[in-house]
Amino acid sequence: MKVPFIDIARFEPGFLESWIDKVTTLSAAAQFIGGPEVAALEDRLSLRSGAANVVSCANGTDALQLALRALGVGPGDTVAIPNATFWATFEAVVNVGATPITVDICLADGGMDLNALEDSLREERLKAVIAVHLYGWGAKHLRALRELCERAGVALLEDGAQCFGAFLDDEPVLQGAHIATTSFYPAKVLGAAGDAGAVFTRDAQLADTVRRLGNHGRTAHYGYGDVGWNSRLDTLQAAFLNLSLDKLDARIASRRRAADRYRNELPAFGIDVMAVPAGYTENGYCNVCLIENAERKAAVEARLRKRGVGFGNIYPGTMSSQPGARAYLKAHYGGGQAELLCSQVLNLPLFPYITEAEIAYVLESIASVEV
Ligand SMILES: *Cc1c(COP(=O)(O)O)cnc(C)c1O
Repeated sequence: MKVPFIDIARFEPGFLESWIDKVTTLSAAAQFIGGPEVAALEDRLSLRSGAANVVSCANGTDALQLALRALGVGPGDTVAIPNATFWATFEAVVNVGATPITVDICLADGGMDLNALEDSLREERLKAVIAVHLYGWGAKHLRALRELCERAGVALLEDGAQCFGAFLDDEPVLQGAHIATTSFYPAKVLGAAGDAGAVFTRDAQLADTVRRLGNHGRTAHYGYGDVGWNSRLDTLQAAFLNLSLDKLDARIASRRRAADRYRNELPAFGIDVMAVPAGYTENGYCNVCLIENAERKAAVEARLRKRGVGFGNIYPGTMSSQPGARAYLKAHYGGGQAELLCSQVLNLPLFPYITEAEIAYVLESIASVEV
């Protein structure tokens, strides 16, 4: 047996046929930009996320850049980001001309360390903070985080690329966000047939600005009120996402079953699995094991490789340690928990419709590690 880290080709019966029908119909009508599929997708995303306004765009990185630009972030501004995240969070700040600082994270949830964030709010004149909800839930102290930024008068942008479909106290995580983004990269919980993303906000004016910036700053067909760029979502991507939304609950249920099995069964082998913070219902995006002993971690990884089991390390390095960060990073706040996370993290196979037998094979592989 072999178990891939991720297999996103396990479509439901009939799913691919529906998709091919859509491609045929839309292609025959040359319906490639905008139209009812995009409008329907934005309405459905609004219902699912609880955000009053949703603007679709080309990918999750653009979503961050559009949101930052709409918040007025640009040259001369400083933006705080967590030191453990996907590189796009760092890039987005630099690409809008602003200066990033990194803030340490908390090993309990992978989110920002609020004490370190408070220090940065005191020391820096921050224009915005980007919080990143990693691994399939939101920050442990989400309400405190939102309040902290609000009190400081600093815009909080929530990168929800990994938390779409997760809930806090029965409300979608992004519902309470001032402005948030997500990615529909194929391997995300709601994946497109290529690149796609969206911005969510309860502020209608911000949403208008995002939409304008993502469409060349257009105010009329050949009238431009701003310099934006082209980040429109393709109609075909919207159609694929609409079909996928029909299946999303089943896919998330399958992911969560797998995540629960890992969380329940791995401690017997002395492996700590990151817990979902209190109040959250996760979307099952990712399994997160933290293995403190480096020798043991290496032995586990070697055994998984030998047994044909794929795994991930999300993420193996901090933002502040990337060679690409050197020219831009202004400061770091807090300690080195992000480094610990990066050195300890191991992610086991998890994707919709992973079988019980596959999970059992992964668990057996771990059970037979000797160190
Ligand atoms: C995937 C991801 C992004 C970037 O999304 P793309 O659609 O690949 O541009 C940004 N932030 C986080 C946390 C992500 O996981």
